Amino acid sequence: MPIVTHAVGGFSVTCDAEAFAWYLRAVRAGMPLGGITSDYRDPDQQEWLFRDRYRLAYNDQDRGPYGDRRWWRGQAWVRISAKGPVAPPGSSRHETGFAIDFEWPQCQWLIDHPEFGWRRPLDADGSFSIPSEWWHYEFDKRNATAQEDDMPTADEIADAVFNRKARDGRSLGEMAKQAADASRDASSKADKIIRLTRELDARVGRVGEQNTYIIELQRKAHAAIAELEKALDAAESGDDTEEKP
Ligand SMILES: [Zn+2]
Repeated sequence: MPIVTHAVGGFSVTCDAEAFAWYLRAVRAGMPLGGITSDYRDPDQQEWLFRDRYRLAYNDQDRGPYGDRRWWRGQAWVRISAKGPVAPPGSSRHETGFAIDFEWPQCQWLIDHPEFGWRRPLDADGSFSIPSEWWHYEFDKRNATAQEDDMPTADEIADAVFNRKARDGRSLGEMAKQAADASRDASSKADKIIRLTRELDARVGRVGEQNTYIIELQRKAHAAIAELEKALDAAESGDDTEEKP
């Protein structure tokens, strides 16, 4: 089947057309959108990737720092990149459009739903043929065992994806409205707080003025008392002189 490119829920997907149809069915059944780190690669991309991560082996014993040795164009190559293995150009399932690398939430979903035909490749003995690449999934029609009868049409799938987007959009709109309401509420509360603070300031100011006035009155009272005491003292000492001639 041909290689197709479609946007699904805003994320671009490029792979074999039939593999894509089953990917859409998985999305329709609840597989998380997006999370695709690598899908179809044309031969040039595959070669670029391979040359980026491998060099020619120095001799028959050379297995490189990762013990990963491959044959390509009649020569041995060893991996020199920690970014992970890449199949030699011409032998990657990514070049056929039947492989997609996913992030963990999508992998987790595919592990739970193998009936959509997207699985990690297995060797004849049942072990994963690329043990380190937990993100690498391949489509095999023979593994796509979900009932065709239950399968939605292409239009239904497109609808489902579109509606999910619209639903997400609506709930985003609702959240934005709530946020705006909350923000308006917060700003009216802030206005109230500012108003109360100003009022409080004015009152504190008035209390301050009254305090100053009271302190002034006390000062005057003290002065008057001091004057009075002085006068009394003078009167008393005057009496003394009169009594003692
Ligand atoms: Zn891969």
